Amino acid sequence: MHYRVVKPFDPWKKGSLCTCPFKYTINPYTGCSHSCLYCYASAYIKDFFNPRKKDRLLEYISKDIKYIPEGSIINISSSSDPYIPLEKEINITRNILEKFVDRNYIIEIVTKSDLVIRDIDLLCRGRSIISITITTLNEELAKILEPGAPSPLKRIDAIKKLSENSLPVVLRFDPIMPFITDSEENIENVIEEAVDAGARHVVSSTYKVKWDNLERIVSRFPSLSKNFKELYFVQGEKIHGALYAPKGYREKILSKVREKVKIKGLTFSTCRENLSYLNDKEVSCDGTSICLKKLS
Ligand code: SF4
Repeated sequence: MHYRVVKPFDPWKKGSLCTCPFKYTINPYTGCSHSCLYCYASAYIKDFFNPRKKDRLLEYISKDIKYIPEGSIINISSSSDPYIPLEKEINITRNILEKFVDRNYIIEIVTKSDLVIRDIDLLCRGRSIISITITTLNEELAKILEPGAPSPLKRIDAIKKLSENSLPVVLRFDPIMPFITDSEENIENVIEEAVDAGARHVVSSTYKVKWDNLERIVSRFPSLSKNFKELYFVQGEKIHGALYAPKGYREKILSKVREKVKIKGLTFSTCRENLSYLNDKEVSCDGTSICLKKLS
């Protein structure tokens, strides 16, 4: 089957790194103005931080939707944020939701933006789960790491509002940046605030080097250049075209996150780390199975 815009989610070509359940994904925009220093998608898409709309997107969705079985998970989105500021003006994500919510699908939103609360009415109409990404609660640091994204405080408020409306929320603590956001204090604060706001599951990963993202990071944190080079280029390992920090480091940090999550009584998963033994088995790694439990 040739899908035009709603495609099977398989970014690593059936690689064993991804433990997600089978799902479809659609990116409302090409590119993303959150301009995160660590962004991976910018390595593949030209002029990535200058987002633009896609031609005939809604028309193509209507065609693709006929071939998507009921009960499927629809991820919005994996290579951009569906709630960039442009969305306020042109409502593409809202229009997409309108096409999906009254059918029997599970909608999985992944965003850093509190603009998602605008669409609570639609999200409540179907089965939906919202992943909110937070990497730090330090406002100044977040402005450097994710300069175009809403503040962490607004994201915490979004978790509260979504949860108050009985929408399940996943915290994506992702990626954790060595030397920058991997302190015990940061890990504890992010988990504490997000869980207290209503998050029901936590997904986490560590930063991976792509050809362009390390350049951006080092330009903002020049004193860390040597540390990153040592951790990734000397001690690290290459997996699926990305440079990972050494397994010992990743295991240590993600075990710490897991420990804090467990203290708060939630389920936990890693993402693309090859450390799936740290994942809780009663929930799918992306948390989407929470939607199934909600209805059963
Ligand atoms: S929100 Fe995601 S897609 Fe957008 S710039 Fe940040 S990491 Fe990249």
